[in-house]
Amino acid sequence: MYMSGNRQQRQWIIQAAKELELMPTTEGGLDFKIDMTHAIDGYPGIEHNLPIAPIYSDVVELFKESETTNSPTLLVSYGGPFGENWFYATENVHDDPKLNVFVPHGNIDARARRRGPGGGGSPGQAGWFLEEEHVFPRHGEFVKKMLEGDARMGVGSHGQLQGLGYHWEMWAMGSGGATSYDILRAATILGAEAIGFGEQLGSIEEGKFADIVVLDSNPLDDLRNTVEIRYVMKDGRLYDGTTLDEVYPEQRPLERARPAEEDPANTAAGIRR
Ligand SMILES: [Zn+2]
Repeated sequence: MYMSGNRQQRQWIIQAAKELELMPTTEGGLDFKIDMTHAIDGYPGIEHNLPIAPIYSDVVELFKESETTNSPTLLVSYGGPFGENWFYATENVHDDPKLNVFVPHGNIDARARRRGPGGGGSPGQAGWFLEEEHVFPRHGEFVKKMLEGDARMGVGSHGQLQGLGYHWEMWAMGSGGATSYDILRAATILGAEAIGFGEQLGSIEEGKFADIVVLDSNPLDDLRNTVEIRYVMKDGRLYDGTTLDEVYPEQRPLERARPAEEDPANTAAGIRR
């Protein structure tokens, strides 16, 4: 429900959705007041961070009582540079070995070699920013308050970068002091509940889908360990975490639609191959 109409019309939409047992999510854009009315009017989800900081306990209470989930998508932070730029500026995305297994290299080039306006198809300002320009750690303080206050946060990487993006988003959400445990709750059970699948997904329990990630190191020690993925189990099938070749119950290599190298060069990035 993308900021449709006026408030009364948005109330009609959420009422109709309730009658149809649907759980529409929405966003307030850069309008804090619209975010508040979405929560008051009963929208189950609000995407993007609230555009201001700091945010106090009154908002946490409202979200908790209305059971509204906020997925802050800090990779595209409101109120400052997109958080994804921080990761492009501080990590070697271009040579990430695993990213290069799954993402066509021209696509990586377009995002990671040069970061000008609209870098890699991103709608926001892209480039290098002085550390203190970044706002995602301040929004991360709200994440901490929400999770400590028993309100619900979700993890959404806004499609900015497949694979690594979700991890970056978790790390950005943790940058305001939330515990790794709380961020992992947001990434699992709270996210499942947010979309109405808390009975089927989000925790390891009898009767739920066997969707599990096996890590080589403990993310409770350091949230950065979430990328140390040895195995992925999806609905009871086990896959190698580096290649996604199935290892159990059958052993078979991942079928690829086409070799990544066949993808055309992204000339928009100023690169010919
Ligand atoms: Zn390259």
